[in-house]
Amino acid sequence: MRKNKSTVINTDILIAGGGPSGCALAAMLGKAGIDVTCVDMDNPEDIEKKSFDGRTLAISYGSSIIMQRASLWKTIEEKACPIKTIQVVETGSPTLLDFLATDVSTQSLGWVVENRDLRRALFDALKTFPSCHHIAPARITDYQLLEDRIISTLEDGRTIKSRLVVGADGRKSFTRQWAGIPTRNKDFNQKAVVCIVRHEHPHNNIAIEDFRQEGPFAILPLPDDANGNHRSSIVWTQHSAKKDSCLEWDEKTFNAALQERFPASYGRVEQAGTRFSYPLTLLHAQSYTAPRMALVADAAHGIHPIAGQGLNLGLRDIDALASLLIAAKEKQQDYGDEKMLKQYEHLRRLDNSLMAGATDLLNGLFSNNSTSVRIARTLGLKLVQKLPKVRRFFMHQAMGKSALK
Ligand SMILES: Cc1cc2nc3c(=O)[nH]c(=O)nc-3n(C[C@H](O)[C@H](O)[C@H](O)COP(=O)(O)OP(=O)(O)OC[C@H]3O[C@@H](n4cnc5c(N)ncnc54)[C@H](O)[C@@H]3O)c2cc1C
Repeated sequence: MRKNKSTVINTDILIAGGGPSGCALAAMLGKAGIDVTCVDMDNPEDIEKKSFDGRTLAISYGSSIIMQRASLWKTIEEKACPIKTIQVVETGSPTLLDFLATDVSTQSLGWVVENRDLRRALFDALKTFPSCHHIAPARITDYQLLEDRIISTLEDGRTIKSRLVVGADGRKSFTRQWAGIPTRNKDFNQKAVVCIVRHEHPHNNIAIEDFRQEGPFAILPLPDDANGNHRSSIVWTQHSAKKDSCLEWDEKTFNAALQERFPASYGRVEQAGTRFSYPLTLLHAQSYTAPRMALVADAAHGIHPIAGQGLNLGLRDIDALASLLIAAKEKQQDYGDEKMLKQYEHLRRLDNSLMAGATDLLNGLFSNNSTSVRIARTLGLKLVQKLPKVRRFFMHQAMGKSALK
């Protein structure tokens, strides 16, 4: 945490937003000795509150490598649960398709971590890099662009002068709006209800994607709690217009619905955390850069969570931008150099566009209940199951291996 309470702060790079992507970028730059300041409007103490963001995040193999490079992975891995098997099922059907870690000779296909544990690990990591400063809670309310730097104004009146501002301030990015960057948007007319659940028997590190008539229902394995209770988290996709949403059900009704949706092998299942709901939309910024500004992660692109790839994409942005900025430090180049920022956008736009399109397509395919689409989809899944090379291709995509530099 930055102790400096003076009204003007000088830093080389300001990161607007200290969510998972902002903190990860700050750590990468801090590790390289770049003077970086990350400003976040959330109070770090709120992480302990029950009302804090209830998402759990599937972290791909590729993301774990990126975090290793930033010396972040060890602490995150301690809180994460490895995924050894992914099963794809359709209501009441036997497994249509499964992906096993052993198929690609790896220990785990990915990991699942609670967002609050991830944030805590990242906050702790930032403290270990002397050139990395974290100011929170503090909201950025304005920018002023000068020729050789940019001045950011905080709500409490402090100002921060830097060569570059990186907008890591999420889907509603103030930075993106201030720069006047338009976005392409799509409303999926769905919401995701998420919650942590306890179950009688171990999950055996299995993640399940159940394509039900009402919409996709995902079960993600979590580490046992301090009392040894077995836990998983759920992502229950529902139409946003649905009147009788599981979000409002009393606990008894909700638990009965969980029991019905979990395989019998989990034994008794019950809600263990608060239920949260997230509206599902697609958003893609038409540009990732503006003079002395770059957008990363959800500030640049927000996708459907059906494949659990949003943050994984964001971490690939961060990896690309951090490499360019570290090279700029070595060449003593301006961090706000327009050509370098455009190079960052060039490196990242295609991967982000393909993933945005693929998750949109998957959601369309698996939220469609017409008989012909259902038959085609079931046949397609069965076909992939029978073709080991194709299966391995999909596994490498999901693990973020093919996108890794
Ligand atoms: C239901 C659901 C499930 C998901 N599951 C997965 C998954 O399994 N795997 C995966 O990879 N992704 C998943 N995602 C996507 C993932 O949650 C996001 O991609 C990720 O949280 C984006 O991180 P971020 O740091 O870019 O943005 P955010 O997490 O939104 O953080 C932005 C930060 O900026 C701060 N901020 C905003 N404005 C200002 C300002 N003016 N001044 C200062 N600070 C500001 C905010 O307070 C916040 O802390 C899921 C998403 C949803 C909705």
